[in-house]
Amino acid sequence: MSTVRRYLPVFHDVLGASVLVVGAGAVGTRKIEALLAGGARVTVVAKELSPLVEKRAARGDLTVLQGTFRPDQMEGAEIVFVATHDRALNRRVSAEARRRRIPVNVADSPEECTFLLPAVVRGGEFTAAISTSGRHPGAAKALREFLEEHRAEMSVRLERGRRRSRIAAKPGKVYIVGAGPGDPDLLTVRALGLLRSADAVIYDYLVPAEILSLAPAKAARIRFARRGRTAGHGAALKQNAIHEAMVRLAREGKAVVRLKSGDPFVFGRGGEEAEYLAGKEVPFEIVPGITAAMGCAAAAAVPLTHRGISSSVTFVAGHEADDKGKSSVDWDHLPKDGTLAIYMGVGRVAAIAGELVGAGFPPETPFAIVENGSRPDQRVVRGVLSDLPRIALDSGIRSPAILFVGRTAAVLPWENTEEKSDEPVAQGV
Ligand code: SAH
Repeated sequence: MSTVRRYLPVFHDVLGASVLVVGAGAVGTRKIEALLAGGARVTVVAKELSPLVEKRAARGDLTVLQGTFRPDQMEGAEIVFVATHDRALNRRVSAEARRRRIPVNVADSPEECTFLLPAVVRGGEFTAAISTSGRHPGAAKALREFLEEHRAEMSVRLERGRRRSRIAAKPGKVYIVGAGPGDPDLLTVRALGLLRSADAVIYDYLVPAEILSLAPAKAARIRFARRGRTAGHGAALKQNAIHEAMVRLAREGKAVVRLKSGDPFVFGRGGEEAEYLAGKEVPFEIVPGITAAMGCAAAAAVPLTHRGISSSVTFVAGHEADDKGKSSVDWDHLPKDGTLAIYMGVGRVAAIAGELVGAGFPPETPFAIVENGSRPDQRVVRGVLSDLPRIALDSGIRSPAILFVGRTAAVLPWENTEEKSDEPVAQGV
């Protein structure tokens, strides 16, 4: 049995516990103070008391039995600490405690101990304990110093973990979660927490593998759609299958995350899914995500609103992908002095450009197309409306892409390149 493994690290609750401390010198006093801080009922046996213990005794914080140790003083003690300079006495007290099966610690004598005290680093909400099984106190101290230097960082991590652990998907419930435009860093803290605790994840083709990998390995992963167009009857079947799977998994008692790209309530059928769940009386919750318009606007430096230039932003479906071939948008009535964010329009850019100009948008209105926004293969293409069909064709923009139209698309300086560089950036040396 390795010495290290022999010791089980535990945190002993001393609140209200009866503790006997033999010896009240410098070391004994430190232990007494720690025990009192933890709310223990401390009895001290010592010939001489340190000034601090004397003060504590006068205040009634502890009981002092002045004089030589006697075995009967151990009656009722739950833990015993020994810290005198008399090694023979230390041994005697330890033997008595062990005979009575009371856990005992003798300062600086691991062989007399039934438990050891670790080197400790405390933060606001944490205690880190380090032990070398009593063999290398110097090494434990060095490690403690290291942790002390990193105390602030530990607190930050702890807070992060605390927030995470508060968020956990509940069994029997469906979470309709927005996954953002693709970059896992753009998930919300809530989405991440739910994903990490999901039993089953139902997702769309637009959700990248990197995000899915955040779900536990044992979680069921269910995908219904293939990449590309699913129209008419096929789309309805697919949507029904999703509805049924959500209900079935929730009724099996699983914590279900229905993961959707962007935001569930922006061209995501989140409303339909919620409606279905409500009808079946399955508890659900909507978790918002960064919609493509916002993720891509940031990526392409298109301020969706800009003082004096655009005071509205309109999310438009360029194509009702699922069952309508043609857009049902009333192009004539879109605000001409704001920003349009046109989703699902890639296949129809030429027609859309024509419709906008026909509706009175000046041909020199700037546009920006963002393909694969926030992903490693992101591309941004810009120009003016009259050149949109040609530029879109030449650049071979493909879905998923979003089209911004409006003066805000040219308000900020942008690099005059089509491809975002994928060159690895040198890391700090
Ligand atoms: N609920 C999603 C939209 C789903 S509709 C959201 O809120 O973002 C699918 C359309 O979203 C695509 O056709 C495309 O127009 C847009 N889209 C989604 N992710 C995108 C991305 N990473 N880059 C560019 N466009 C994206």
